[in-house]
Amino acid sequence: MSSASRSSVPSGSGSEPRRCRAYSDDVTAKATGGALLLVEDDDSIGRLVKQYLEQQDGWRVVWLRTGEEALSELRGQPVRVVVLDIGLPGIDGFEVCRRIRAGSKVPIVMLTARDEEPDRVAGLELGADDYVSKPFSPRELSARIKAILRRAERGTEDEVLTAREIVLRRDSREVTVAEAPIELTSKEFDLLACFLEHPGIVLSRERLLDLVWGMTYPGGTRTVDVHVAQLRRKLGDPEGIRTVRGAGYKLIPA
Ligand code: CA
Repeated sequence: MSSASRSSVPSGSGSEPRRCRAYSDDVTAKATGGALLLVEDDDSIGRLVKQYLEQQDGWRVVWLRTGEEALSELRGQPVRVVVLDIGLPGIDGFEVCRRIRAGSKVPIVMLTARDEEPDRVAGLELGADDYVSKPFSPRELSARIKAILRRAERGTEDEVLTAREIVLRRDSREVTVAEAPIELTSKEFDLLACFLEHPGIVLSRERLLDLVWGMTYPGGTRTVDVHVAQLRRKLGDPEGIRTVRGAGYKLIPA
């Protein structure tokens, strides 16, 4: 278990510049308070997730085991993010998601069974912001939560993502490597932004397709390979985006 691999950032350090905003702690619960609602009927997964998010990220986690309880909780108090299992006793996660979306924009991360593409497609179509496939590491879930909160709560400030020697400016859609500008196509830019949002996290080809091309793109996962190859060539940094055999790709942050 890797839950001790990252320690919490003490309060008071928030003014330090961070190299990568995707991991900055300004989007954790500490900054503004608020609870994370975890809806999961599996005891071992629930316990692991709750412990990790509380200890590593400073969340106050409200853990409930049914959708009915979750909906009632949401009516009673503000929640900043919902982590929602699909398979629940009583109404399932899809129905919970649908009912939440009928009246709330709260970010929702769904927990789906491994390789159940229809599940994740259905979840996203119902308005979930992201999904994590079981089995997952709490650390991966944590990174996804931070990424969607950052997207959901992004202000009007310039959005700059950095890693290695790469600087990506979202507003002007400019990318530099070691301060030298490079030319990327629109999809290459989006793909790079996606990697920079998930440093150190393995992204499957299917997930990259979802995030960059949209779920219905007919070209298939080969498209991802072609664009990653192009990106590596243009970045002049073949080690930056690593192939993880049988799993996908990940950005090596430094
Ligand atoms: Ca379950």
